[in-house]
Amino acid sequence: MSLKARIAALIEAQGPMSVAQFMTIALLDPKDGYYPNRQAIGAGGDFTTAPEISQMFGEMVGLWLVQAWADQGSPKNPRLVELGPGRGTLMADILRTAAVAPDFLADLDVVMIEASPAMQAVQADKLRGLGADLSWQAQFDDHLGDRPLFLVANEFFDALPVRQYVKTERGWCERMVTTKDGELTFALAPVPVPKPAVPHGLEAAPDGGVYESSPAATALAEHVARIIAAKGGAALILDYGYGEAAGFSETLQAVSGHRFAEALYDPGQDDISAHVDFAALAAAGKRGGAAVFGPATQGLFLANIGITERAEQLMKANPDSARDLLSATERLIGNDQMGLLFKALAFAPPSISDMAGFAG
Ligand code: SAH
Repeated sequence: MSLKARIAALIEAQGPMSVAQFMTIALLDPKDGYYPNRQAIGAGGDFTTAPEISQMFGEMVGLWLVQAWADQGSPKNPRLVELGPGRGTLMADILRTAAVAPDFLADLDVVMIEASPAMQAVQADKLRGLGADLSWQAQFDDHLGDRPLFLVANEFFDALPVRQYVKTERGWCERMVTTKDGELTFALAPVPVPKPAVPHGLEAAPDGGVYESSPAATALAEHVARIIAAKGGAALILDYGYGEAAGFSETLQAVSGHRFAEALYDPGQDDISAHVDFAALAAAGKRGGAAVFGPATQGLFLANIGITERAEQLMKANPDSARDLLSATERLIGNDQMGLLFKALAFAPPSISDMAGFAG
């Protein structure tokens, strides 16, 4: 039975499901879900991420992490956690770069948070032989709260499930996935949600306006912030999304073979994601007791921490690659490329007042 048919059967048995539940099944179903089964990332996959564009991205992130560690007095036994490490490229570049700080690497515990066993295998392959003490977990949990926590997440939060609410004459109704003539389709829940589900300030939304929230994302961000506030460390979250208050339109999107597709059409075959609400993540970080930096645009963040200088250095060393290095830099920081749409957000302990890359 196809994943679509299984979802339809589930809806027939239990009633309509939330967009969040649909996303979770479509992305992570162990048998037919997207991440466990598809070669998602890279030129031959459905989308290309920043670390796959250029090693410079991971180098910059690696230097940022080492700097944050040094600024906090080089604490012993740091832990480096990556959420959703994809093909392992970012972690490989971080570990290579962190060799500038042997004391950081010396007793570093590296934990990869990856839900898909297939992706875990790809990552293990890539990172074998790098000498780091690596382990894998399907989920972030409280066991990761016993050491200074240095955490990075690139294009992870956009994969976390969102719930959607639509403004109607009756109030805010949750958008559900249901079936019609054997196809999956969206329908509004008939009864509006109780007020607290939708934050204040949304009264101005027009009829038909959509509010998206990702309780999974904000709960995780708050958890990470709480550990960093208590034990030290730093988190760097990079993703595409909105920095200011979100508009009233939906952002759920499906991508297949580098093109947009229809989210409900073929669950398990297409990547599904939603814009990250950075204002909500920043608020979650503050609730967790961390100092919060940004969101800054990815373009400004990378430029501030020296990606252009790094590109020039690499170009001098490899004049033949100059053209590729220039175009990679442009893709990562150009305003009409990833520079503006993508954002960076950081957490640190409350005693920290400056973080590299985040101007005043
Ligand atoms: N950071 C990588 C990959 C981004 S794709 C890069 O920049 O290239 C998202 C990654 O998160 C994939 O590895 C996917 O399998 C994993 N993932 C998605 N949802 C997850 C979840 N809920 N828990 C853990 N891992 C998840």
